[in-house]
Amino acid sequence: MSVQADCIVCQTVRDGQPVVYSDELWHAGILPGLEVPGWITLQAARHTEQVTGMNAEEAATFGPRLVALSQAIKTVTHAERVYLYAFGDGAPHWHVLLAPRAADLPEEARHGHYFDDRERYRDQEQAVLVASEIRDRLAAAAL
Ligand SMILES: [Zn+2]
Repeated sequence: MSVQADCIVCQTVRDGQPVVYSDELWHAGILPGLEVPGWITLQAARHTEQVTGMNAEEAATFGPRLVALSQAIKTVTHAERVYLYAFGDGAPHWHVLLAPRAADLPEEARHGHYFDDRERYRDQEQAVLVASEIRDRLAAAAL
């Protein structure tokens, strides 16, 4: 597996992030700074950059992993929607953030504001608890 020493995503996987899902191609879990309950990142197991960096096998499996993970998050959190964020400026390692958005989140706090205001919603203990519920849900669904 290709790991880049100065990559925060590679380091997090290597150092044992709270894991929700893992196989030879994909990891899903909590990234440092994004400890909002229900927020899970899905990232390539190897260091590759941007959506265009995926190889054919990764591209073929990304969609099914994304759908299963989104469904598990939505079920556990009872979210109205699961937002997907993929910027890549802060950490170029290919990953997407899945962020469940509750039905009662005010309109002015939605969309990009939800990501920008993440400090308001961070709760390390609750994030780990919800991640374990999502992991159990995924396992039950036999991804
Ligand atoms: Zn990396």
